Amino acid sequence: MQVNNVSMNLSAVSSKQYPGEGFPEIALLGRSNVGKSSLINTLINRKSFARTSSTPGKTQTLNFYNIEDQLYLVDVPGYGFAKVSKKQREEFGTMIEEYLTTRDVLRGVVILVDGRHAPSEDDISMYQFVSYYNIPTLVVATKMDKVKVNQWNKTVSQVKKTIGLNQTDSLQLFSSETKYGKDEVWEWIENHMA
Ligand code: GDP
Repeated sequence: MQVNNVSMNLSAVSSKQYPGEGFPEIALLGRSNVGKSSLINTLINRKSFARTSSTPGKTQTLNFYNIEDQLYLVDVPGYGFAKVSKKQREEFGTMIEEYLTTRDVLRGVVILVDGRHAPSEDDISMYQFVSYYNIPTLVVATKMDKVKVNQWNKTVSQVKKTIGLNQTDSLQLFSSETKYGKDEVWEWIENHMA
């Protein structure tokens, strides 16, 4: 998609606050620090539009980015919060679950995993959760500029196997440093907007 106009329309913690235009939505999920803000900024050709989830004091909300009045990319706060209380973690969990299980304009999710390591327990749980709800999923392995190209096939098989990727879902290698995989991620998103 040719992206010129992006606005962060709103942040939401509950369904009453979700946008009402009816545009299709693609949600982005991943552990803190996996490279989610960097991926969003790459997709929308900005340097620092999406703020990193590790920004101190940043509120944990669902952030809806309006893309060209055609689509919302929904930045879901990183899961696996080491530094927050159990209660806070449960509240985030409820917010994320409510969104993923009740949002009728949600067309798919992108789950980010760190391409340098095997998917974590959190990654696997998140994938199992969205699979259970039959939400079409693209798994994106980030930071591939840090992995030698002759190891990429191994990354692909390791991620697919560890996460238990269904045949209907896809995996894309990605780097926000080199922009590798950007067009393919957009292609997947556009194919799931209808
Ligand atoms: P978030 O917490 O998931 O939003 O992660 P960020 O996008 O803020 O990235 C976390 C850290 O990883 C930052 O230091 C980024 O510069 C770095 N990072 C993100 N994507 C890549 C990538 O594709 N390659 C490399 N080498 N570093 C990356």
